[in-house]
Amino acid sequence: MPTYCYVCDACGRHREVRRNSPPRRLRCPHCAVNLRRDFRAEHSTMRAGNPWPRRSQALGVSPAQIPEAREHARRHGYQVDFDELGTALIPSRAEQNKMLRAIGFCDYDAGYGDVTPGTYQGD
Ligand SMILES: [Zn+2]
Repeated sequence: MPTYCYVCDACGRHREVRRNSPPRRLRCPHCAVNLRRDFRAEHSTMRAGNPWPRRSQALGVSPAQIPEAREHARRHGYQVDFDELGTALIPSRAEQNKMLRAIGFCDYDAGYGDVTPGTYQGD
């Protein structure tokens, strides 16, 4: 069920409601004025389900390998950095795919609805 966000222009209070569709009118309980829908807040609420950017220990390196890993990223042109523990900081699926190609891996997880390798039955 989606979350709809509202803001009161009189007092600045925010309100969130979870419903199947946005309520037509919502009043501020403090000011009794109609609330304005806050699309920006809704967007950041939806973004909570978006995994990018993400951190990955699986694609990380040991701290001693960080300079080498950064140099590899620079040479192969993918935008992945590493924190001081060697955890990979990946900005997007596209950059992750570039990285995986550069290190010779394949992202079996890359697309929802893709045929899982080894299960394709043919037409
Ligand atoms: Zn108010």
